[in-house]
Amino acid sequence: MVVDQIEARGVRDQRVRSIMKVVPRHLFVPEVDRSRAYEDRALAIGRGATISQPVIVAQMTESLELTGTERVLEVGTGSGYQTALLSELAGEVWTIEIDEELAHQAEERLASLGYRDRLHFRVGSGESGWPEAAPFERILLSAAPERMPRALLDQLADGGRLVGPVGPTARQRLKLVERQGSRFEETDLGPVRFVRLRTTSQDPFSPAG
Ligand code: SAH
Repeated sequence: MVVDQIEARGVRDQRVRSIMKVVPRHLFVPEVDRSRAYEDRALAIGRGATISQPVIVAQMTESLELTGTERVLEVGTGSGYQTALLSELAGEVWTIEIDEELAHQAEERLASLGYRDRLHFRVGSGESGWPEAAPFERILLSAAPERMPRALLDQLADGGRLVGPVGPTARQRLKLVERQGSRFEETDLGPVRFVRLRTTSQDPFSPAG
């Protein structure tokens, strides 16, 4: 599919590249968009959400340096596509989605594709993480907060890695955060544009921006 673009973006991780060839992205997009599922673009999946652009998904997944054993928290299940990749590449995945309809659709879709083991679903806001299951060795955020929620940093294990977009809609940056004890080292991975992370105080259907 978009393996060329993924290579062009500098994604070298063979495990990420091969898993992206295998997970059927067309089954995670609305039927009308199936023919575009292997283009390198984000697509609307309803409820104001989008399935993220494949090269960005590849870049984020690679930056987590997964070996197959990690406990991963994902914020923003959306279509469940990224969840499927994580579940193939990590140990166990806890995924949170604020939109009930999307959450249930993703859970059913993933179950029907055989991704039911080592996956935990929750409907709610990922802002406060998943305290009962913390700490997580990896955290992936696919909606953008203005600032990284403290709870997510607190729930990152020592030596852990977190990746996600941060900042106001027009100026989002993809950040990698590596935790060493009480130190959080941040690397900027470039400009991105994600759905905004909803906060509990915000009108859930207000347009991004
Ligand atoms: N990785 C997903 C991206 C979906 S878009 C995919 O590729 O399909 C981002 C998702 O984050 C949307 O589904 C949106 O509903 C969800 N979201 C927004 N704010 C959230 C919050 N506070 N907690 C959990 N999920 C949230």
